[in-house]
Amino acid sequence: MGSISIHESESTPPTLEKIVDCIIVGSGPAGGSAAYHLAKLGRSVLVIDRETFPRYKVCSGGVSPAVGAWFDFDFSPVISKTVKQIRYTWKVGDPVDATLNTTEPMWMVNRSEFDYYIIQQAQALGAQVKTGTTVTGIEFKGDCWTVNTDQGMFQAKYLIAADGAKGPMAKWLGFADRSVRMGMVMEVPAQDMAASAQFDFGIIKNGFIWSLPKANGYSIGTGTFRGKDNEDLKEALLQYAQLKGLNTTQATFHSHPMCLWTEDQQLHTRHALLAGEAAGLSDPFTAEGIRPALFSGMKAAIAIDSAVSGNSGALANYTQVIQAEWGQDMVWAQKLANIFYRVPGIGYKVGVKRQSATDRLCKIMCGELKYADVATRALKKLSGGLIPGLG
Ligand SMILES: Cc1cc2nc3c(=O)[nH]c(=O)nc-3n(C[C@H](O)[C@H](O)[C@H](O)COP(=O)(O)OP(=O)(O)OC[C@H]3O[C@@H](n4cnc5c(N)ncnc54)[C@H](O)[C@@H]3O)c2cc1C
Repeated sequence: MGSISIHESESTPPTLEKIVDCIIVGSGPAGGSAAYHLAKLGRSVLVIDRETFPRYKVCSGGVSPAVGAWFDFDFSPVISKTVKQIRYTWKVGDPVDATLNTTEPMWMVNRSEFDYYIIQQAQALGAQVKTGTTVTGIEFKGDCWTVNTDQGMFQAKYLIAADGAKGPMAKWLGFADRSVRMGMVMEVPAQDMAASAQFDFGIIKNGFIWSLPKANGYSIGTGTFRGKDNEDLKEALLQYAQLKGLNTTQATFHSHPMCLWTEDQQLHTRHALLAGEAAGLSDPFTAEGIRPALFSGMKAAIAIDSAVSGNSGALANYTQVIQAEWGQDMVWAQKLANIFYRVPGIGYKVGVKRQSATDRLCKIMCGELKYADVATRALKKLSGGLIPGLG
């Protein structure tokens, strides 16, 4: 990826023309989406990422096809595989097959290709991108942000923090620490790929194992959603692989924190917004984070465009939009997670094993249904296992 500096040298003081409308820190789905939409709206934008792209990202790469509606380019060059079939298991036994009754199948992507592709689309619209550059600090001075990096200093009227679950930006912007849980992916190269995505319950306590097929291997991920975050994720993945008879001699293991949604929070501050996992938006029931990252990046771009045009309420409105269109429903996702992962055996029997559960979850992931629409009934069914006589 070409990297473009907006300063000739560090000793040249920035002139007004060199202050871009927005600097985006992070070039994952949130940053890429924000850059694409801001560039499309005609704003000057600089994206800074510490990695050199394409880069590996710890993620299983399952993406809802619903995200396609937010972009006017074709994602097919970076869809490694599509999936219409799901197999659920309980400790690798008691299998249940379900079909995704969605118009489009689920996308399986390699994040190294997917993230790079989005940022290239943004570059084609004029976004400047500086990779291999670590942001080391930020300062608000004279109505604009100064962003210090290991490659020099840059300035912008507005900032978007899209630096993910590990990034420092939210803290530097004065937001409270977000709680994180660890996730892990085991990458297993394979030739004879199953056509289905596979979800296993029972091996890992308080979570599940997801195995998503790509063109040339499986990204098998896991994490927990309630209780102490102290499960041995690698051990659980190895146990799963052994029970499945998967050859793991060439498997690689990668851990990464997940910033799951916990409660509605303010996502704006003076001339700055949080997007994606830096905003703690991942689904607390499934760990789905790509769709909310792309969505919040798009909404952040719209808000910054409006702020640059002089709308003083635009950034506060961004917080409200994300709360209304994402956070409110995550309240239900979290309630469901709290009870489902407490009694997963019951959840497997009364929920997962039914085709209607797959239909509903897929509709949720495609934005056609809300957790709120199904949670009350699901919670009642699950509670039946906790409270005798109920359910
Ligand atoms: C094990 C696991 C499996 C997962 N599987 C799925 C899945 O199948 N489907 C799904 O939807 N979600 C999944 N997720 C969640 C998903 O990966 C994240 O939610 C998503 O990557 C968030 O995107 P983002 O753009 O907010 O941040 P990121 O993708 O994390 O991007 C942040 C970027 O910021 C850069 N950065 C950080 N700090 C700095 C700095 N100081 N200076 C410059 N750059 C910096 C990083 O280099 C990085 O490129 C999974 C997560 C885990 C941990």
